[in-house]
Amino acid sequence: MNQQGGEKPRRRRYFMGILEMLGLKRLINAYGTVTLIGGSRPSEEVLKAMAEISKVFVSMEELYRKVGEIIAKETGAEAAIVTSGAAAGVTLSVAACMTGGDLKKAYQLPNTTGLKDEIVVQRKHKSIYIYVAQIPGAKLVYVGNEQRTLPSEIESAINDKTAAILYMYFDPQEGVVPLDKVIEIAHRKGVPVIVDAAAELPPVDNLRKFVKMGADLVVFSGGKDIGGPNDTGIVLGRKDLIDAIFKLGPHSLDVVDGQLTCFIGRPMKLSKEDIVGLLVAFLRYIKMDHEARLRKLHEMVDKVVNELSNIPCVKVSKYLPDSSHPVRPLIIPKAEFDLSNCVLNADELLELLKKKDPPVIAYSAHGKVYVNPQCLTDDELEIVIERFKEVFSEKCKNCPKKRK
Ligand SMILES: *Cc1c(COP(=O)(O)O)cnc(C)c1O
Repeated sequence: MNQQGGEKPRRRRYFMGILEMLGLKRLINAYGTVTLIGGSRPSEEVLKAMAEISKVFVSMEELYRKVGEIIAKETGAEAAIVTSGAAAGVTLSVAACMTGGDLKKAYQLPNTTGLKDEIVVQRKHKSIYIYVAQIPGAKLVYVGNEQRTLPSEIESAINDKTAAILYMYFDPQEGVVPLDKVIEIAHRKGVPVIVDAAAELPPVDNLRKFVKMGADLVVFSGGKDIGGPNDTGIVLGRKDLIDAIFKLGPHSLDVVDGQLTCFIGRPMKLSKEDIVGLLVAFLRYIKMDHEARLRKLHEMVDKVVNELSNIPCVKVSKYLPDSSHPVRPLIIPKAEFDLSNCVLNADELLELLKKKDPPVIAYSAHGKVYVNPQCLTDDELEIVIERFKEVFSEKCKNCPKKRK
């Protein structure tokens, strides 16, 4: 007799797809590498490596070190470490600059008594992600105003409590003191510069650029364009500071005052599957033909523009984002829907697309709707185009403007 009391075993669940089992819908991602809908779609190669490492145990310390060495070598950085996302990378980078690898200091966080605990940030760099820089107990010291920051303002904000300058990379940006100048000021004052470049890929050259400019720590998302698991990130930079991140213990414990303890890195730990998945995605990413890929993304946008060019009252065009656009990276073209003469506004259009099956997730900015080809396959692009056509043909049929 089996556990179901003599009936045939009910194994249906295991034969169903995960989506069916959970009652979830697959979404068509015309938005980009956003965490809200899953962020990335790791390749088969990545998934295969994750499955392979999942079957064995390894020394996490050695795994972290080896993977860090490979990434450092490929980016020209002194050292590198994988983190559980770019946001965790920023948190740990700030903590590393505050503690410098001193375990006693690491143990006292987020109590910052006696530690350097000020992080200088240009006011225009205040972003939705800035919050995470405060997790180690650091205080954000904003310099400048909404319009601009002056080099002298950065300079005079630096004092003996300054742990680092955090540069949120949203360049090109008017009124911001540029990274090279910030590095020059910081280093003259003996203060490290952390660059949050989470979504600045492509161009792939950025993996080397900021380190080469002299930034002390540079943070990238592993789960955005690199295509690793969405909960991965990379920090590149100075060996002593990467070692300090290491000591903050994403994977380990240590003894302080005769007591075995974990540290601030512990809730940001990674699995061996994540680390290996990120590595394979990274190696794939740096070998990719990025010119061909960008050409392809342009073709995809052109296709959207061509196929949807005859929607009445809506202007569809190819948009190359300027720095006021909220979705990075700027290098990837988007299809822009100008609705100023349409009865639908941006939110209504997005809502109608979302109600389709499968739902299409596009996004809006400054009242316009955008389609980002970054995460779309060719087949999905067709679906996006069809859904836009459907939405507008339904809407235009009953449009009050038509009757006038
Ligand atoms: C996406 C993003 C982050 C967060 O990255 P995760 O890898 O999702 O943790 C942080 N900073 C900026 C500027 C980002 O664009």
